Amino acid sequence: MFIKDEYIKSILSSTKSADESEIESIFEKARKMERLSMEEIGVLLNLEDEKYIKEMYKIAGKIKDDIYGKRVVMFAPLYVSDYCINSCVYCGYKCQNNFDRSKLSDEDIVGEVTELLKMGHKRIAFEAGEDDKNCDIDYIVHAIKKIYEVDYNGEKIRRINVNIASTTVDNFKKLKLADIGTYILFQETYNREKYEEVHPSGPKSSYEYHLTAFDRAMEAGIDDVGAGILLGLYNYKYEVLGLIEHNNHLEEDYGVGFHTVSLPRIKDAVGTDKSIFKDIVTDEEFKKIVAIIRIALPFTGIIISTREDIEMREEIIDYGVSQLSAGSSTEVGGYKKHNKETQFKISDSREMKDVVLDLINTGYIPSFCTACYRMGRTGEEFMDIVNHKNIKNICTPNAFLTLYEYSLDHMDIDTQIKVKEIIVRESKDLSNREDFLGKIKELETGVRDLYY
Ligand code: SF4
Ligand code: SF4
Repeated sequence: MFIKDEYIKSILSSTKSADESEIESIFEKARKMERLSMEEIGVLLNLEDEKYIKEMYKIAGKIKDDIYGKRVVMFAPLYVSDYCINSCVYCGYKCQNNFDRSKLSDEDIVGEVTELLKMGHKRIAFEAGEDDKNCDIDYIVHAIKKIYEVDYNGEKIRRINVNIASTTVDNFKKLKLADIGTYILFQETYNREKYEEVHPSGPKSSYEYHLTAFDRAMEAGIDDVGAGILLGLYNYKYEVLGLIEHNNHLEEDYGVGFHTVSLPRIKDAVGTDKSIFKDIVTDEEFKKIVAIIRIALPFTGIIISTREDIEMREEIIDYGVSQLSAGSSTEVGGYKKHNKETQFKISDSREMKDVVLDLINTGYIPSFCTACYRMGRTGEEFMDIVNHKNIKNICTPNAFLTLYEYSLDHMDIDTQIKVKEIIVRESKDLSNREDFLGKIKELETGVRDLYY
């Protein structure tokens, strides 16, 4: 198995007392965006001195700025089914919880997706619990098709990332044919013992089957995968090294690592008091984790959900976060019912337009871009662009185009003018500026969905 428990533990204990020159040479590599070894990441994880931690934030911030600029990609989850036969102790959907479970009908899908489109969302994360009777792969594929079909005044969902249970190669092939964006699966914890403790029954209780899901996805042709750890279940330093080992394994065997990493922290959920978890991650530790992952995986998107509050979300965008959810509901049918939380508690409950406005007002560029997946830029092809450091030149104009489109369709005239001023000012260095400004004009005439 590619996660080697003893190896991770030995790195964590042998990297506790790095001296100044070692630390400085790791920082120097990080500044040049060179790949760090597991040991070097271990040194970063063990840093306690405020002076080094501040320097690490600076380096992570610079990497973030060099690769992503001020862009932040926006998305929302769509909870499609809360049937679940697993018993994950931290989740409100666990099978022991008694509530009226449901899944979206075709009509419900139209209702939910229409609400998301009204907010301006173009990119969603499809969420479903695991239940092969009530929510099998054929239902999932059908639901994806229906979501793509919903049309609200010419607006449509353009990318569906899918977060469903680990499954078979044949089922992954069906998902691939359904035109999904990223296949997302959180390992939750890389520590086998802890994993087995918090997943006592159901198919998800198999550590190995869960851990090898991306291998089967890759085998089925899905080369765009997103990982995640549920921070608070186990020692965060161990989890970060586990995540890196997992990424290294995919790169070695399939030539492509994680497209995204999600970093949820445990929140209270129905039927669970988070105080039973002994490894709760503090705010300071959380910021450190984001910065280290930004340094260790410079080109991997980091996703933060509405579990984090406004202040934290805004602060960690500077250290490395590149995708934010907004206006989220974690309930099946929750958008239509204007009900926001069942699976876990939400800390940032602002409306989507307020999140977008706040981001603009603090100098960020909310992006609704979905171009890569639609241009077939996934897997190795995507990595090729990324490794030649071209991604910023593609992402930046796409962010401006989609933000301007969003402002024209969803914001008042003053905000539209403000967005245009920002775009004109910030696009000065674009190599294809003339063509880009032509596209901006096209948007004003009503043309939509323009991208590079
Ligand atoms: Fe089910 Fe997923 Fe919740 Fe586990 S985390 S109980 S698999 S919905
Ligand atoms: Fe993401 Fe590609 Fe759009 Fe950049 S151009 S924001 S990588 S979809």
